[in-house]
Amino acid sequence: MVISMKLHSSREEIEQVCKRIEHFGYKVHSIEGEERVVIGVVGRGDVTNCLESVEAMPQVESAVRISAPYKFVSREFRRAKTQIRLNGAEIGGDEFVVMAGPCSVESEEQIMNAAEAVARAGAKMLRGGAFKPRTSPYDFQGLEEEGLKLLAKARSATGLGIVTEVMSDSDVDLVAEYADVLQVGARNMQNFALLKALGPCQRPILLKRGLSSTVKELLMSAEYIVAHGNPNVILCERGIRTYETATRNTCDLTAVAVLDELTHLPVMVDPSHATGKRSLVPALSRAAVAIGCDGLIVEVHPCPEQAMSDGAQSLNPKQFTAMMKELEPYLRLWKDSRVTEAAAAV
Ligand code: PEP
Ligand code: MN
Repeated sequence: MVISMKLHSSREEIEQVCKRIEHFGYKVHSIEGEERVVIGVVGRGDVTNCLESVEAMPQVESAVRISAPYKFVSREFRRAKTQIRLNGAEIGGDEFVVMAGPCSVESEEQIMNAAEAVARAGAKMLRGGAFKPRTSPYDFQGLEEEGLKLLAKARSATGLGIVTEVMSDSDVDLVAEYADVLQVGARNMQNFALLKALGPCQRPILLKRGLSSTVKELLMSAEYIVAHGNPNVILCERGIRTYETATRNTCDLTAVAVLDELTHLPVMVDPSHATGKRSLVPALSRAAVAIGCDGLIVEVHPCPEQAMSDGAQSLNPKQFTAMMKELEPYLRLWKDSRVTEAAAAV
């Protein structure tokens, strides 16, 4: 159950409601928005008596029963999609957002060239890892703060927003100083200390699906971030591990449609990590648009043959520009269907 308090309720009024809920044997988890406090009620058993009792309290706006274990991120809690402002675009609305750039920030020249190329081709955000989660401890681990500074420089030069990975709870403040969106990588999707530390962070979070995680686990991880105070979470399908070896991962595109039923959060697709092969990236991108995701995050390197990570799946600027052009008719259909959906929802 989730309870919305009336606008500008006092601390005392909120406490009275929490006490009433606890009296029924449930735990409370409140989130303070700018104007309104929302209280999540967690516990076992039938909540009917508690719901009816709380609903009758004058300071309560509404009380909604939510059967899913993820409360705040579920569609039951909120029908309307969450829209998140990103560098002039609104992800989750009627704008398709493309984020693009290299796997890792390698040098000033590399990130500047990448940024200019992806901006020219129509990307809204620049991706690039400064803290890199690598399978081998001997592989390039990223330029760390120096990389963040280069990303900020590329933002100043191009106007692109920055999305970059944060790997540890102790780096959240540092990364948030430079980035517009903080990425939680697949390997950290269940790093609960990190997820909790992202609650107070003022930036939107791009949460990638874990290597072998279920949709429910992804949503529970998103719930951690929202329950700790940050409602701006974007989910990302980036392929999961299966028995198939023809691609680096198996893109679970169905998850995009499943997530659309289960959550109000925006969903992106990463066709680069999903396939591991640059030749497959345009086809999967078209399919991702067709299934109705909210955006793409694509690896683009000025010279993929020289990339320090993920070169095989990175497009060069020419290939990325061609792909963006190819996507145009698909994006027109996408836009039409968004506008129709929005009109039907009114
Ligand atoms: C990345 O975006 O470069 C990355 C490491 O992605 P993932 O966490 O999905 O493997
Ligand atoms: Mn990568």
